[in-house]
Amino acid sequence: MKAAVLYGPGDVRVEDKADPKPGRGEVLIRIRSCGVCGTDAALFKGDYPAATPVVIGHEFAGEIAEIGAGVDGFRVGDRVTVDPNVICHECEYCRSGYEHLCERASSMGVHRDGADAEYCAMPVSNVYAIPPSLSFEEASFCEPLACAVHGVDLAGIKLGDTVLIVGAGGMGNLIAQCVRDSGAARVIVSEPIALRRERALENGATDVIDPGVQDPGAELRKIRRIGADVVFEAAGNSGAQASCLSLARKGGTVVWFGVSPQDRLIEVNPFYVNENEIRILGSYNNQFATGRAVKLLAEKRVRVDNLVSHRLPLSDYLKVFSMFGGKDTLKLMVTIES
Ligand SMILES: [Zn+2]
Ligand SMILES: [Zn+2]
Repeated sequence: MKAAVLYGPGDVRVEDKADPKPGRGEVLIRIRSCGVCGTDAALFKGDYPAATPVVIGHEFAGEIAEIGAGVDGFRVGDRVTVDPNVICHECEYCRSGYEHLCERASSMGVHRDGADAEYCAMPVSNVYAIPPSLSFEEASFCEPLACAVHGVDLAGIKLGDTVLIVGAGGMGNLIAQCVRDSGAARVIVSEPIALRRERALENGATDVIDPGVQDPGAELRKIRRIGADVVFEAAGNSGAQASCLSLARKGGTVVWFGVSPQDRLIEVNPFYVNENEIRILGSYNNQFATGRAVKLLAEKRVRVDNLVSHRLPLSDYLKVFSMFGGKDTLKLMVTIES
């Protein structure tokens, strides 16, 4: 099969590779589309640790091509998406409801072969059927949407809250829709790229701020004098992660959602955090949210039709790294024909 393989920082090759075989309890999936994630860009830059060489990509949908031994409940031809994080089911986290924090987790595109390829083999416990109403492209958003759902679960938004989202890439746009549906009265999005602000306004934002020309703190305080109940940092930007603390109200919550370079440090004033009772949360992967993400997309509670800016065939995969983060770029989608 053809696959995009990460060998190390700056080194991804589209090459031929042996087709995977489904083991016991696994299915072989013919991949039809795979979204490009900030994590993929971080892997390429060397900002995120990986077990190389590894097939990159983890936000995908496809159809079952082969059933491994001992698998019930799925048939060849079923249309599916996948939670790409394979867990051990045995460690103390897995046994206490925190499977996303599994000590032996193996994530597609990072530790095990991913989905910018024609095929992948996955344990059936990670596989979710998708309804005919969802295209493969739409269903490829299930993984990032599951992560957004988890972040919103953690944030504990209340009806009528004022929520600020910093960064309106693919994730910020998904978070905005989840936040709106969780009952927030104001959903304010700060984003320097015009295209992304426009999309955010289509996707649940009540107000947008351009931090290139406006002061996010001053703009926020025109809307809510005391600051936001919840602030999501969805850009993975160190400056924004630090400044988010002063944008939350006293007793407010800051969710660090964006992926940072692994060695990055930022300065935080503990006195300020203590005095203002700021709650700082990390949000990682997703906790039993993939099934809910499928439902949100199937019921059209979350739209993704306006998020894909470019579609590329797998053979052109390397182009994604020069396009990622550009001002005309939102979600990049790799289409896989075989
Ligand atoms: Zn992702
Ligand atoms: Zn585990």
